[in-house]
Order: sequence, then structure tokens, then C-alpha cells
Amino acid sequence: DPGADVGVDVVVIGMGQAGLSAAYHLQRRGYELGERMLLLDANPGPGGAWQHRWPSLTLKTANRVNDLPGWGLEDAIDVDEEVPAAQTVPEYYRAYEERFGLQVIRPVTVDRVEQPGGVGSDFVVTVSGAGVGATARTIRARAIVNATGTWDRPRIPYYPGIGTFAGRQLHTRDYTRPEDFAGERVLVVGAGISAVQHLAELAPVAQTSWVTRTRPDIRNAEFTPEVGADVVARVDERVRQGLPPASVVSNTGLPINAVETGSLPQCHPMFDRLDAHGAVWDALSLRSWGSAPEARRIDVDVILWATGFLHRLDHLAPLGLRTEDGGLLVDGRATTRAVRNHGVHLPGYGPSASTIGANRAGRWVARELEEYLDSQDR
Ligand code: FAD
Repeated sequence: DPGADVGVDVVVIGMGQAGLSAAYHLQRRGYELGERMLLLDANPGPGGAWQHRWPSLTLKTANRVNDLPGWGLEDAIDVDEEVPAAQTVPEYYRAYEERFGLQVIRPVTVDRVEQPGGVGSDFVVTVSGAGVGATARTIRARAIVNATGTWDRPRIPYYPGIGTFAGRQLHTRDYTRPEDFAGERVLVVGAGISAVQHLAELAPVAQTSWVTRTRPDIRNAEFTPEVGADVVARVDERVRQGLPPASVVSNTGLPINAVETGSLPQCHPMFDRLDAHGAVWDALSLRSWGSAPEARRIDVDVILWATGFLHRLDHLAPLGLRTEDGGLLVDGRATTRAVRNHGVHLPGYGPSASTIGANRAGRWVARELEEYLDSQDR
């Protein structure tokens, strides 16, 4: 019962790839569940954000879902690449949790993490949700692993007139299937893999148009480990300076094999504003792209924002980890340790915001936290 004001060494918040990997490595270092560690997750079942992905996203159409430490995906379950990832990945995580006895308390949302005694003292974690025992509310911990991902913070940029558009607006997070758009004029916003996948799916049933802030980076080559490492290094450099991270998965470019090029409409530069009927461009902004679209406005029924996600970190606000630039200063071997508070690690943030990055980060999170807690004991 996490409700009865318990005290542990480490609370892991969020049980996607990042939380599971950290929990696995902490457990191997002797942080037994219940006694020394609690695992909390806001979702009703295993799978992290993957349980919510739209049905046509399969292991075939995803970038790649990396293994968790100690037990690979293909050893754990029978993989059918055509089955929705929203089924496959939760099945894998469920089997993984069971095999290693990683008992997750869910659904439990962490509302707030505070440290009333200042840096180095105990954290007080305030929780809510159906998974919390009847008497409930706070957990004391000496360290926090925050692995809360991004799915719950869809990002929709502000454009003038956004509130006046009379049609439907939705974000990638709320996309389910192309049939919902049959016969409609749909404007997809965004230059990432999600935008391109939406366009490909919608092409047979809807009239699509496409706008992006930067020109889409369609690579005529395979996505290689070198490309991935380069993107991760750039994000790593940003967060070590306390800048807001750019998304790793949205910066890997669009491998040509992920793009059914025939289904992509012409890509227009970002509009200047929206009105009740659609998107409007000023002549000046069209010139900057060299090729003017066929019209200065595009009227649509739906705007589908495939404009990415932000990290979900509001519950950490009382700790004052944010920099003036809006990022979090992090360092450590996997760039997960809060510089201002070594009792907090953030796997899945910045350069580790991919299944491979999150998986690798877990080992260093466990090691550095153990060193930190041991040094406090001395
Ligand atoms: P998540 O899987 O998001 O898990 C976070 C968990 O924390 C959730 O269960 C959530 O409920 C819980 N949580 C959040 N807030 C709280 C709170 N306050 N209290 C308690 N629990 C909380 N990466 C790849 O490597 N390959 C891909 O093919 C790929 N495809 C992607 C496709 C899309 C559309 C998106 C958006 C991302 C994709 N990524 C991909 C990125 C990848 O999903 C993530 O980097 C990785 O899976 C995230 O793992 P995570 O553990 O950080 O977070």
C-alpha cells in the first residue's frame, strides 16, 4: 500500500522503457521492491506510452523498438510485425515485469515531488489514483527516478487565429484511424515520421495537404546507427547546457523506406495564420521557400497537428530544476542526473528519449544513484 506514508530509498515514476530499465538495474544492485524501491505508473496497464499508439503503428512501421535489459523482445513474446505496437509492446513489458518480479503500482499519478528540507534531504512524493490505497497520499524517498515520458504533453504551437478555426483540430496523440476523416479536407502540420504516416494513411480516403516549418528531411538512404548517434549527440549537447531538448525521434530524418512518397502531397511552408475556414499565407512568407503554393489559402475541414511532444515534468516543479532557458541541466554518464540535485535522475529525457537510449540509460541511473546514496550514508 503506497498510501500509508511509506519511506523507501528510490521511487521510480513512470514505467515505460526508461522506468523499466532503471528498475531492472536498481533491483540487480539490491534495491528490493517494497523495502527499498517503489515503482509507480499512471497508466492502467503495462506498456508506457506504447499502449496508446494508433492501431496502424506496428513494429514494421515504427522506427525500431529496442530490447529491455536482460530479456529481448523476441525471446519474451511471439512477435508479429503486422500486429499493432499498442498490443505487442505492452505484451512484452507485461511479460518482462512478471519475469523479473517488477511489481508496478498502478494506476498511480505522482502529482508533486517536494523536498521540504532542501537538497540532500528526503523527497516527499504526493500521489493520487485508483492504485493508491484507501488512506493514501505521500511517500518519502531518498532519491527519484523520473521516467514520465512525453505522451501526455502533446505540443500544439500557437498561430494567430487558432481559436477561430471552425473545423476540427486534433493532435497525433488523438489520431486513431483514417476512416474518421473519410471525404474530408485534412491539413497535416509537421515534418516528422508521424506526419508522413498520417498523410500516407489519409491519402486514399481524404483530400490531404501538408505544411511544415522546415523542409522535410527525406533521406535517400537507410537510417544508420551513425545517423542516430549524431542526432543523439546534438540533443545531448543541448541539455547539458540546460536548453530545452529537441526530440531525438523527430530529428532522425525520414528514411525513404518509411515514406510512401507517392502518397505525399506537395509540402508548403508554415501558414501565417488560421481563420474560420483554413490556413492563410502572407505573400512574403511564401517567397522565403522559393516555390509558392498554388493558393494563398487552403480551406480545410480538419487540422491534424503532428507537431510533437514535450516532456511531462510539471510534478517536479517544486524542486526548481528548470533553467531560465526552459530546460533542465543534466549530466552524468547517460545525461540523466539533475545537476542541481543528484538525488534526481531523468532517463528518457533529452538524448535518452528513444527506446534504445532509455534502455541504455537505466544501467547508469542505477549505478550513479547507488553511488549517491552510499555517499549520503557515509
Ligand atoms: P513512456 O513510454 O511515455 O512512459 C512513461 C510512463 O510514465 C507512462 O506510462 C505514463 O503514464 C507514466 N507517467 C507520466 N507521468 C506520470 C506521473 N506524473 N505519475 C506517474 N506516472 C506517470 N522510439 C523508438 O525508439 N522507436 C520508435 O519507433 C519510436 N516511435 C515513436 C512513435 C511516436 C508516435 C512517439 C510519440 C514516440 C516514439 N518513440 C520511438 C519514442 C519512444 O516512444 C520513447 O522514447 C520511449 O518509448 C519512451 O519511453 P519512456 O519510458 O521515456 O516513456
